[in-house]
Amino acid sequence: MANEEEPKNHLFNTKDPPLKSHLQSDALYKYILETNVYPREHECLKKLREMTQKHPWNAIAIPPDEGQLLSMLIKLINAKNTLEIGVYTGYSLLSTALALPPDGKILALDVNRENYELGLPFIEKAGVAHKIDFKEGPALPFLDELLKDENKKGMFDFVFVDADKNNYLNYHKRVIDLVKVGGLIGYDNTLWAGSVAASSDAPFTDHIISQRPYVMELNKYLAQDSRIEICQLPVGDGITLCRRII
Ligand code: SAM
Ligand code: CA
Repeated sequence: MANEEEPKNHLFNTKDPPLKSHLQSDALYKYILETNVYPREHECLKKLREMTQKHPWNAIAIPPDEGQLLSMLIKLINAKNTLEIGVYTGYSLLSTALALPPDGKILALDVNRENYELGLPFIEKAGVAHKIDFKEGPALPFLDELLKDENKKGMFDFVFVDADKNNYLNYHKRVIDLVKVGGLIGYDNTLWAGSVAASSDAPFTDHIISQRPYVMELNKYLAQDSRIEICQLPVGDGITLCRRII
């Protein structure tokens, strides 16, 4: 029986492996994974996920059901040119690369190349490394450079933002001009372990508490931004989909 003292949220507790869902039933989430997700997961994604599981920061990778969602969205909008901010070992990156057509391209930004290189052998094995242009460094100055070139505005069909939460609003202010009208942006972790709706004394880690205002700031901003349509999904740690309309 669950310990009453345990925080209700089970995204960032000490379970091994962590269950990354806001569903209140672990059994139901397990059912979804085992019925719909694992049987269809690409062999290289599975291997990358298993490798990542052994890495100390494994909880920051997107869960495989979210990878399936990204893949579906990318195919539905016929995305060809995409941007990813926040790569880690590359689960979302490989999900994207596999979903793109053979001539599809991903500009992938992360301050840490080492973790990307842990996942790279699985990306290469999957035969999609040629689609990826990885750039090491802080994303904001890189985006600012892109925006200096008028031709780069509206160049992306799909953008996935999953890096430092304290810059989420800064990312939005840039990415909105880099995605095309009709294109899609996904902001990850917009439920931020459930903390966005929790009381101020709820038992979250210092990391969750310190970044919460930034995630809430983004959520509030997106809700009133008339340039986009939005849809908040409780998949993974919450993903807000934004379709640029003007
Ligand atoms: N999308 C990844 C996945 O599915 O495994 C998870 C990304 S992880 C949550 C966040 C990543 O953002 C980390 O790899 C970190 O190095 C990167 N990051 C943090 N600050 C950054 C910055 N200012 N610019 C670019 N990347 C950054
Ligand atoms: Ca994330």
